[in-house]
Amino acid sequence: MWDINYEIYQLNTRSYRFSNFIYIIIDKTTRNALIVDPAWKLNIIVDKLNQLDAALQGILLTHSHYDHVNLVAPLEGLFNPYVYMSKAETDYYGFRCNNLQAINDQDKISVGETMVTCMHTPGHTAGGVSYLLKDSIFTGDTIFIEGCGICNSWGGLPEQSPEGTGRDGTLGAFKRKYI
Ligand SMILES: [Zn+2]
Repeated sequence: MWDINYEIYQLNTRSYRFSNFIYIIIDKTTRNALIVDPAWKLNIIVDKLNQLDAALQGILLTHSHYDHVNLVAPLEGLFNPYVYMSKAETDYYGFRCNNLQAINDQDKISVGETMVTCMHTPGHTAGGVSYLLKDSIFTGDTIFIEGCGICNSWGGLPEQSPEGTGRDGTLGAFKRKYI
């Protein structure tokens, strides 16, 4: 079995009709942390980071929809983390923030001894990214429990979705999927 040197915590935050899952990844050695798609409830996230004795080093954005990015600015103000989104997504939709790091397919992001691989998974949006760890994957809205996410929003293309490109087999191979 792989030696897993990270912890993953799931938060569920809500606003009106939105209900989003947010994930905190903590490298056990350094307690440095990444957060995936922070949205809606800043106090819940800050309290959880404090409770876990975690230092926020980076924000992983799967795509630029508002319900996945609306806490980027306040978290930048509090913790000054790097903010990762694909270049394809920022080019297409014009997303901007202070600490933006434009990433490409197969780029690596490290937090302590934990390595994250970026995988371009368009379909739901033009530049959607899934983030891969040793035994886990974070897919944002590209994949839901029921199947692929909607492909009819602006920039979404069903033929580029994981099912369309045959990458759903790759995505399906992971033991722990975070969606
Ligand atoms: Zn979305």
